[in-house]
Amino acid sequence: MSKYDFDDLYSDYDYEDRSRAARRQRSRPKNKRKGNGRTSPIMANIHKMDDSQESWVPSYAAALDPLHHERHWVIASVAPFYRDSLITDVTRLVKGGKEANVYACAAHPATGMALLAAKLYRPRMLRHLKNDAIYKAGRQLRGEDGKQIKGRRVKLALRKKTNFGKHVDIMWWINNEYSVQKKLYAAGADVPEPIAHAGNTILMDFIGDEYGPAPTLSEISLEPDETQPLFQRVLDNVQLMLNHHYIHGDLSAYNILYWDGDIILIDFPQMVEARHNPHAFELLQRDITRVCEYFARFGVKADPVELTQDLWQPYMGRNY
Ligand code: ATP
Ligand code: MN
Repeated sequence: MSKYDFDDLYSDYDYEDRSRAARRQRSRPKNKRKGNGRTSPIMANIHKMDDSQESWVPSYAAALDPLHHERHWVIASVAPFYRDSLITDVTRLVKGGKEANVYACAAHPATGMALLAAKLYRPRMLRHLKNDAIYKAGRQLRGEDGKQIKGRRVKLALRKKTNFGKHVDIMWWINNEYSVQKKLYAAGADVPEPIAHAGNTILMDFIGDEYGPAPTLSEISLEPDETQPLFQRVLDNVQLMLNHHYIHGDLSAYNILYWDGDIILIDFPQMVEARHNPHAFELLQRDITRVCEYFARFGVKADPVELTQDLWQPYMGRNY
């Protein structure tokens, strides 16, 4: 491997780039570098940090034991947003999942927002991504500039699952989530506004208030008069996404938030492109089925197979 330079692929992926430590590491001859040089860069940056380097410690991290790895992980992950005057603090852990933790942040006044949510992917998230082949089928690797990544080296690394390959893979999912969410937000979909992303982290509008995050649909019961309109609203979003060639791929009452009488769809890393993924139809049908199952609890009668056809056939008619 000629050069272990991830910046080619994801230019914003280097929290520590400007630090002296990073420059020292780079100028050192490759064969003198510590270890085999193949540590995940996310972990490498975390290990490099000690308290003396932390010029900014958000209040959530300050409350953690200095030796707790989450402390350094949080600080390193959100530092770019602090430097860019997007956030001023991380106040609490909203939810810790298998793949990612979501934290509530105080927004910088310049953003015009009060709270932001930071979604931090775990370095090892891919181990937990179930059945990801179905989502990857037909995907095209794209770099930060949106251009397809073609390098033989990258493809080989992905196939051989080297650490570099795994890194590209993780960055692909996160990049995918951010860019899709941006497009959908711009198209008027009910999704949290994405604000920025850096490395393993996506910063977006926080749905909820200072007392806590919005509940997911799975956590609440709907009132009779809001059930049908909200069901329609979810379907309208599914349709809007499909018009942009996207299928959520993991839609369910767990990935829909409820706030102020409205619904907001979240969690897009596994989003698939309807034009390229051979499992597109089956994923669409599964999404719609899960939505129907939830709303059926509150009396909505709908046939998911028919609803899927009603969306899919006109879509295919327009595009093929
Ligand atoms: P899980 O494995 O629990 O599904 P995940 O890794 O898939 O987690 P998300 O579903 O995106 O990640 O987010 C996890 C949880 O964090 C959500 O269920 C929701 O409660 C909360 N959350 C995510 N994004 C936001 C947001 N923008 N505003 C408020 N809360 C959010
Ligand atoms: Mn989720």
